[in-house]
Amino acid sequence: MQLRYRFRLYPNGPQRQALAQAFGCARVVYNDALRARETARTGGDAFPTTGDLSKKLITRAKATPERAWLGDVSAVVLQQALRDLDAAYRTFFDGLTGKRPRMGAPRFKSRKDRRQTVRFTANARWRITTGGDLSLPKIGNVRVTWSRALPSVPSSVTVVKDAAGRYFASFVVETGRDETLPETTGEVGIDLGLGHFAVLSDGTKVDSPRFLRRAEKKLKREQRRLSRTQKGSANRDKARVKVARAHARVADARRDFHHRLSTRLIRENQAVAVETLAVNGLARTRLAKSVHDAGWSAFVRMLEYKAARYGRRLVRIGRFEPTSRVCSVCGVKDGPKPLHVRVWTCGDCGAVLDRDVNAAVNVATAAGLAASARGAQVRPEPVRAQRDEAGTRRSGRPAAVGIPGS
Ligand SMILES: [Zn+2]
Repeated sequence: MQLRYRFRLYPNGPQRQALAQAFGCARVVYNDALRARETARTGGDAFPTTGDLSKKLITRAKATPERAWLGDVSAVVLQQALRDLDAAYRTFFDGLTGKRPRMGAPRFKSRKDRRQTVRFTANARWRITTGGDLSLPKIGNVRVTWSRALPSVPSSVTVVKDAAGRYFASFVVETGRDETLPETTGEVGIDLGLGHFAVLSDGTKVDSPRFLRRAEKKLKREQRRLSRTQKGSANRDKARVKVARAHARVADARRDFHHRLSTRLIRENQAVAVETLAVNGLARTRLAKSVHDAGWSAFVRMLEYKAARYGRRLVRIGRFEPTSRVCSVCGVKDGPKPLHVRVWTCGDCGAVLDRDVNAAVNVATAAGLAASARGAQVRPEPVRAQRDEAGTRRSGRPAAVGIPGS
């Protein structure tokens, strides 16, 4: 299985300059190639091959005064720019023939793009030095923060500069052949909580961590500040950089949280069941924002590849299962629809059920997993008080179930 590992890079001044040059050269070759192909296409000529373009736009162009500076960067970086364009066309054509979701035609790149990238493959002679630096041809030894160990020698590295001005090395690595974890008996269903990030069928409620919530708050503040600035003003540019930084911090914190949680769930359980969320259906409601913010789909993708990697089972349950309305103890369809109802009593068997945990147990049951229904039950509590409590903070985190007014 191929995986990407991303680490923060800290290039020094001259290295940043060399990278800027590499980004620029890769972009020029990409744009030249795109122009050549579009000209051929509109003129009804044969579609130039990558080999043709490589000869014309790299090898021969280097000999001209207008493009001589292409010789200052690693040739592999320029070749990879042509490969990227190939990939963009392939996605576009596959979209036209219905093989993949429809995508727009390849577009010209700009120096103002939020993300700049260059890729070095194995034959670019990049390497990790004994001192732990990333040695890149014509750029030098760049300092790396190795936040985790690489499972094997990577085949390529992409250097990325993001909108916040940070640099990253993204390695493609082949994971070890067999990483199957020893079998365990755990099985768990997960419900996408709207109040909580996730609720597990064993009764655990997982909230997003404090550092993520703080980063999100800061992002909102910076976004408001940006919207108040005048178009075209210097302040607007400054505010935009701040928003980009805050955005990057939120994205990082969220990814980190998703990684920790998904790894834990996959390690502890032999099978994990999740609900496939009809995000389109929800998009019209006011819940949409919190669903998107919670990044549920990104989280499920992580669960998916980790399950495949470590020999676990991930089961997806369609949204048609009325998970919050069925009593997970006796199976009677009885539960309430309104979202403010957090706890309800089954009219048939009398079980007092926490809405989210009950749903998580139903997800597990629908997947054929042996989740304990006991997790869905809570101590009998005055439901009315709970209802009021939840009603006043719809979008926030609801108070812990079972302690209304305390
Ligand atoms: Zn019941």
